[in-house]
Amino acid sequence: MKQQKKVIIIGAGLAGMSVGSYLQMNGFQTEIFESYSMSGGLCASWKRKDYNIDGCIHFMEGLSPAEVYYDFWNNIIDMKSIDFVFFDSHSVVDDKDGNRIHFYSDIDQLENEFLTKAPEDRKQIKKFIALVRKFNKVKLPIKKPFEVMTVADKLKVAYHMFPYLRSMRKYLKITNREFAEKLQNPTLKYAIETAFVGHMPLFYSIMPLVWRNKKDTGYPKGGAALISSMMEKSYKELGGIIHFDSKVKKILVENDRTRGIELENGKVHRCDKVVNAADGRTAIYDLLGGKYKDKNIIERYESDVFETIDKTLYIALGLNRDFSDMPRKIHFYIDKPIVIDKMTTMTHLEVTHYCDDPHAAPEGKSLLALMPEAKDWEYWQNLRLNDKSKYNKEKNRVAKDVIEALETKFGNIKEYVEMIDVATPATYIRYTNNWTGGQISWKATRKTFGKPTTWQIKGLKDFYMTGQWAGTSGGLINVVMMGNHLTQIICKNEGIKFTDRVQKK
Ligand SMILES: Cc1cc2nc3c(=O)[nH]c(=O)nc-3n(C[C@H](O)[C@H](O)[C@H](O)COP(=O)(O)OP(=O)(O)OC[C@H]3O[C@@H](n4cnc5c(N)ncnc54)[C@H](O)[C@@H]3O)c2cc1C
Repeated sequence: MKQQKKVIIIGAGLAGMSVGSYLQMNGFQTEIFESYSMSGGLCASWKRKDYNIDGCIHFMEGLSPAEVYYDFWNNIIDMKSIDFVFFDSHSVVDDKDGNRIHFYSDIDQLENEFLTKAPEDRKQIKKFIALVRKFNKVKLPIKKPFEVMTVADKLKVAYHMFPYLRSMRKYLKITNREFAEKLQNPTLKYAIETAFVGHMPLFYSIMPLVWRNKKDTGYPKGGAALISSMMEKSYKELGGIIHFDSKVKKILVENDRTRGIELENGKVHRCDKVVNAADGRTAIYDLLGGKYKDKNIIERYESDVFETIDKTLYIALGLNRDFSDMPRKIHFYIDKPIVIDKMTTMTHLEVTHYCDDPHAAPEGKSLLALMPEAKDWEYWQNLRLNDKSKYNKEKNRVAKDVIEALETKFGNIKEYVEMIDVATPATYIRYTNNWTGGQISWKATRKTFGKPTTWQIKGLKDFYMTGQWAGTSGGLINVVMMGNHLTQIICKNEGIKFTDRVQKK
């Protein structure tokens, strides 16, 4: 295939490596510039003592070969070579009286669990489960992005989605919290309020249940480190180049076209196109100096339509105790609220163990992870920058309170803890430069549903954006899919026939 234009990609997270891989398949010559010394971005693992902390993946989506997301992964990495764990029970929620609701992956089992535990809510449960069953049949028309669809494609999508539109519209108007309020049974009410994100439309909670039912969601043994290293290897095998420790300071623009980048060390690299796969706000307001904004950018970054997701801490504990007989993920009520920062007090916690993955902890030991909210991200960031000793003390204080809460809930915790690691929003900013230190960019709300992906900015040519800030939400499968979609758009703009297959040399 004829060698096409040179594209510089900013950021070697999964978004950057995905778009880089798909562009390489289509004959573009790409180079990624990454500020950190490793690839993966937020999809990262790190070692502490004998434990490999998966700082990202709790659940990975797009694992069923029969479903629509699978190929976005499988075109880049060999999915069959990965050992996935699928969970019969995705999570459990324990209320303040110790009553438990299982969120089974199988829909029939889930329905039975809800009906058995909350018979008084039969009508609402039946309606809700019927909705999950209905969407269990849908094959989302996501092979092509809207921007490259022909009229015939759009008509096909409309025909295909027509049976679902009424339900979608209806359940986009109801939030999870509003749905929970309709329930009478206190345990089920608490379970829905706790396991589903309150502000999100109920519709957004339906699809994850569908994916679990179809075994499209699971956990890759080897975790974030495995997935990131496989993505990096594939990208390089396709001919891509990654420059590590290369922070981009400026995007070079000539006559309203991007023509290269300048690194923090002053080096300039020229190209035909730039793709930003790193923090969106930095790209627009710093690297481009705020000179290029259109109405979609202004809506995202300068209005209240888009809100960043609530930030969290990431507390990893290494336990010299086998937790494998516990449900993988447990949400539970805590008697003694934990103050995280002045905007956040936790009255429940959520703990996940990684006992199904032998890479996570030595045999007989367990890696636990908790993500309590930490809404005041600026507090954590300022503390880290201005008072490192207090920052460390605060991290230890919260970890101590969390361990105390685990002790009360499970017993035999304190004396078995042999590793504690606390990441804050400041940690995410430091390692990945993500605005607000948030992990999944935007909150998915009614207001953001259907908003266009900001692939480009009006008035600036040869500049593209991908990754969690360009879409309406993050998550690994979303950003990997976006790499495929953006390549389709670039190919269309360049008059190239898109392929998602590796070209024979
Ligand atoms: C704790 C946590 C749990 C999560 N759990 C899940 C989960 O269970 N399932 C799931 O699907 N998703 C999960 N996510 C979300 C998912 O990890 C992200 O949505 C996704 O990895 C974002 O990928 P990205 O490539 O868009 O961005 P990033 O991963 O942020 O990549 C951007 C890259 O750009 C680099 N960069 C930034 N600025 C510059 C610059 N100026 N110059 C050069 N390079 C730069 C960064 O270093 C980074 O490597 C989780 C995230 C976190 C943090």
